[in-house]
Amino acid sequence: MKNKILGIIGGGQLGRMTALAAAKFGIECHIFDPDSNAPAFQVCAKSFVNEYEDLEAIKDFASGVDAVLYEFENIPLQTAQHIEQFCVLRPSSFVLSVSQDRLVEKNFLLNEAQVNTAKFYECNTYNNLETAYNSIKGMSVLKTRRFGYDGKGQIKLDNDTDLEKAWKDIESNELILEEFIPFKRELSIIVARDLNGKIVLYDVVENRHKNHILDQTIAPAPNISKEVSQSAKTIATKIVSALNLEGLLAIELFELNNGELLVNEIAPRPHNSGHWTMDGCVTDQFEQAVRATLGIELGSTKRVFNINMQNLIGDDISLVEKFINDPAARIHNYGKKEVRAGRKMGHINHIIK
Ligand code: AMP
Repeated sequence: MKNKILGIIGGGQLGRMTALAAAKFGIECHIFDPDSNAPAFQVCAKSFVNEYEDLEAIKDFASGVDAVLYEFENIPLQTAQHIEQFCVLRPSSFVLSVSQDRLVEKNFLLNEAQVNTAKFYECNTYNNLETAYNSIKGMSVLKTRRFGYDGKGQIKLDNDTDLEKAWKDIESNELILEEFIPFKRELSIIVARDLNGKIVLYDVVENRHKNHILDQTIAPAPNISKEVSQSAKTIATKIVSALNLEGLLAIELFELNNGELLVNEIAPRPHNSGHWTMDGCVTDQFEQAVRATLGIELGSTKRVFNINMQNLIGDDISLVEKFINDPAARIHNYGKKEVRAGRKMGHINHIIK
């Protein structure tokens, strides 16, 4: 285990926390990111500052490590496939390709994993959009198929929407229109699957957003019924089995008033809603991703503390001062040099008695 080297595509906070988890096992990380200020470069053994499209640099990077994971989905698929020529990529480029495109993802979830999602329609033309809008009738959400995050690339539509304007504003013709779900709350679950198909699941958590960005995760989800929790775990198991996943996956869910769960989206990487595991579980999501990627036996997901994870967005990072001596507050500062509105700067895991 000691001599292994892990490659990480992406040097943001997720890459950084993965590298820190790997370091606990004496595992070196090589990190690839086009931005020389990427925060993960502060904590890794070797930095590759190159564009993701630079396949020569990717070859160099992938040839020098035992396995690679990625910390975000928006890397070119060709880059992921290129990595696979030189070393193992976990999760695979196939899993990445499913998660990169909302249409492919939703079709996979429905047809292959056989789990429920919001009703959705493919929209490549204005006519498609008009037909879909008229079929849904009530409120809906227009989403770009690719590159959306934190509510970007999305427009909410209702009966009064100027449809032509929405079509122009979204500036893409690769879209899906989804029915709007009047959910009770948003939940998520992190799951890992190893090379032998063994699956481990974390507790189901509740996520609260502010301005479309995750604000708080409450772990475990307050007052969650045994049935809902079990159903989230069944859904997660079906998805990772259908994907033949090797690695870690996050699943975002909508809980309806009747307890039904719909899958919103999946992310084949450590996820903001799994940060609570760093101080709440025997094995946190980053260590689990390292284990699953390098073929080390998966760790226990047992919850040892209830956690309220508070994201520090933009100026919120000043809250670190307030909590620095609070014995129930575990501070995680991502070391980003520049504070920007809407930028994830850190988080605090509050241990709940
Ligand atoms: P997404 O980028 O798909 O994760 O969407 C970002 C956020 O928009 C979600 O966390 C929800 O709060 C909201 N949202 C997305 N899709 C829907 C939907 N079909 N119905 C209601 N809210 C949605």
